[in-house]
Amino acid sequence: MSSNDQENSLNFNTDWSYSPAPESTDHVTIKDRYDLFIGGEFVAPASDKYFTSMNPATEEPLAELAEAGAEDVDRAVKAARKAYKQNWSGLAPASRGKYIYRIARILQERAREFAVVESMDGGKPIRESRDIDVPLAAAHFFYYAGWADKVDYAFPGRKTGPVGVAGQIIPWNFPLLMAAWKIAPALACGNTVVLKPAETTPLTAMLLAEVIAEAELPPGVVNIVTGAGKTGAAIVDHPDIDKIAFTGSTEVGRIIQKALAGTDTRYTLELGGKAANIIFEDAALDQAVEGIVNGIFFNQGHVCCAGSRLLVQESVADDVLGRLKDRMETLIVGDPLDKNTDIGAINSSMQLETINKYLEIGQQEGATMHQSSCALPDKGHWCRPTVFTGVAQSHRIVQEEIFGPVLAVQTFRTVDEAVAKANNTPYGLSGGVWTDKGAKIFKVSNQMRAGVVWANTFNKFDPGSPFGGYKESGVGREGGLHGLKPYLQLA
Ligand code: ADP
Repeated sequence: MSSNDQENSLNFNTDWSYSPAPESTDHVTIKDRYDLFIGGEFVAPASDKYFTSMNPATEEPLAELAEAGAEDVDRAVKAARKAYKQNWSGLAPASRGKYIYRIARILQERAREFAVVESMDGGKPIRESRDIDVPLAAAHFFYYAGWADKVDYAFPGRKTGPVGVAGQIIPWNFPLLMAAWKIAPALACGNTVVLKPAETTPLTAMLLAEVIAEAELPPGVVNIVTGAGKTGAAIVDHPDIDKIAFTGSTEVGRIIQKALAGTDTRYTLELGGKAANIIFEDAALDQAVEGIVNGIFFNQGHVCCAGSRLLVQESVADDVLGRLKDRMETLIVGDPLDKNTDIGAINSSMQLETINKYLEIGQQEGATMHQSSCALPDKGHWCRPTVFTGVAQSHRIVQEEIFGPVLAVQTFRTVDEAVAKANNTPYGLSGGVWTDKGAKIFKVSNQMRAGVVWANTFNKFDPGSPFGGYKESGVGREGGLHGLKPYLQLA
């Protein structure tokens, strides 16, 4: 046994477990039914149809949500257009800022409630929703509230004006945070919006509708319609939408791009990813392993910028894999509301099926699968943290987005080989570099074709930093000063 192995086996004694520490749900009220938020009011859908949002950890229904059809989307767009013309676009920018500040403050006041509902509806660990999703969502509203009366300074020498009505379609992995990413810059620039949350995670968007009403935004400035792909398509196809902002799969991104080709509707698309985390032999290995775990296992790998590929220098590959497997054994999979949980529930049975399909494919392709040995709850959708070794660049588990806690590990010998392998993917959303050498960070990160490259850390977000992809990972940037541009006409 090497001294490293001895150290690891001492540090990672797994014969004990934490006592349960569930977050209370007493302070949360989830209504039986949520209607559409149109023109500042909650209104029943014209179709009179509703669908159910389930808790993926318990498989119990949480609430019924209205299914918006084309008629409802039309009502929402009309409300947004009216608010745009009569009120919001002409309002003093500082006043717009005040409304957005109010949203941020109320979100902070209701932070605990939002975190619990996010974890119940989406399955993510409360530690993430409490420490990441909700505070970052509030931070985005604060950040863009600050820009509202300074937009002209962002583009010196140019005249700025709003674009009009924005249709915004978001996925299920960061439901509240994605709503904030979309709504905050749109409002700051003087646009009005029609937002559609994902069908499996609509609840925090409906709570956000309550916050928007509480903040007394003029009716119609923000409209929130629930439903699945058909509702999203009705937004994309509506002739009176000026801009579409979409975050989701590359597959649906392509459909949207085709639908908008030849029209004058602008669009930004934030799509899939297959990020590589590159560990060089001179990296601080324990920190790097923690970064890998954070990058792919936390939040169940339900992150488009997840570090789903690990490229590790051959000389330290066995050491890193040993440490990673030991660390995987300590990860707690289970109740999303328990503060000790590292990996919560997979968002839906459909997503679990997709992940399981890839676990099969990986083994059929000849890769070696390693999973942690943790127990899983009887009910709900779960996946153990999984590592594939012995993979080839052509394997589907290396090329395709899995969106689960599944890591494909490859090795490399030289810097050039690492960069070539990292870039050998249709995607280009994010990447990571782990090394002790600053010069290597600059060299490698400049050569990686990815919108975001983290150095000696991973999955760190700030409202001031732009985010977006190269290649099939999308078009346009969100966040920071760059995130204002898609919502502005510049003359
Ligand atoms: P994921 O694989 O992350 O679920 P999707 O791209 O399927 O991503 O979904 C992201 C969002 O796009 C969801 O709100 C979904 O309802 C919506 N959506 C799905 N199909 C379409 C479509 N054809 N047009 C517009 N929106 C769609």
